Amino acid sequence: MADVLVLVDHVGGAVRKPVLEVLTLARRLGDPVAVVLGAGAGGAAGVLGEHGAVRVLVCEAPEVEESLVVGRVDALEAAFGALVDPVAVLVPSSGEGREVAARLAVRVGSGLLTDAVDVVGGEEGPVVTQSVFAAGFTAVSRVSRGVPVITVKPNSAPVEASAAAGAVEVLEVEFSGRPAARVVSRTPREASGRPELTEAAVVVSGGRGLGGAENFALVEALADSLGGAVGASRAAVDAGWYPHSQQVGQTGRSVSPQLYIAVGISGAIQHRAGMQTSKTIVAVNKDPEAPIFDLADYGVVGDLFTVLPQLTEDINHR
Ligand code: FAD
Repeated sequence: MADVLVLVDHVGGAVRKPVLEVLTLARRLGDPVAVVLGAGAGGAAGVLGEHGAVRVLVCEAPEVEESLVVGRVDALEAAFGALVDPVAVLVPSSGEGREVAARLAVRVGSGLLTDAVDVVGGEEGPVVTQSVFAAGFTAVSRVSRGVPVITVKPNSAPVEASAAAGAVEVLEVEFSGRPAARVVSRTPREASGRPELTEAAVVVSGGRGLGGAENFALVEALADSLGGAVGASRAAVDAGWYPHSQQVGQTGRSVSPQLYIAVGISGAIQHRAGMQTSKTIVAVNKDPEAPIFDLADYGVVGDLFTVLPQLTEDINHR
């Protein structure tokens, strides 16, 4: 079978959920070969083997983390060179993932497709589904040059266990030299105890309708009752009510959870761009004409200050 290279996103060997989703898609195309880079990379091998990786290429060289992305691209290119019959390279979508993927595509002369929400095998190569133009259209495409490099949005496939050899190999990398920018230190974001916004199965977002930063406590309480992450509209972020890291939309982050709850958000096109691929959308808004209701699967027309506490209490009692 053909090899499918999967770049593993991990923290000290703890594999992030989107990687396991990508492995589900990779198995549709061929034999997944995982490449794990950076400190603790070797610790990821077990779980990758349990989710279908036939080979796990490991590079713990410090050069990988000394530069912003160049070291990773060097290592990914070396891994690409170690494939037998490559059919695709799959990378979990993130700011860094897209940049690494794009640079690899240039180096190996391949076409690139970003933010796939589905990937299936095809006679002439993998067929990729993307949600484009502020999620107003669905594009189905195929790369026509080289081995396709594809980034995959979180929550695009289920995590499925599938035992494979997971044979660990040390990846030898010839680093391309002194990077233009060097990482001085890395500071992990303060842990909120909630799942990462782009990876969460449930996202509850608040907008201008909340009327103030203090009222985000209502959104946080509902998110916590569902084990979800908290998002915000740009209006709420611009007002200083919630951090920009949690902004959903065109100039924020793109989420695709199983359940998205929009609270006091009108549903502007720029907000939709970041959440329209959510599987189920619920809106709470006091204006029955709010555009968010055009796209919601379920809508509650009402005052959020009445609806949210009731909803949270009800969920907490289940
Ligand atoms: P509003 O549009 O003001 O809506 C507030 C809603 O709350 C209303 O529908 C109202 O009925 C409801 N409401 C009020 N009180 C209550 C209550 N008590 N109970 C229930 N409902 C209530 N926006 C983003 O979100 N993300 C982006 O990334 C983004 N990028 C942008 C990029 C560009 C280039 C531009 C021009 C705009 C961008 N915007 C973005 C802004 C976008 O156009 C909207 O202005 C913004 O999304 C509006 O936020 P909102 O829905 O919270 O506020």
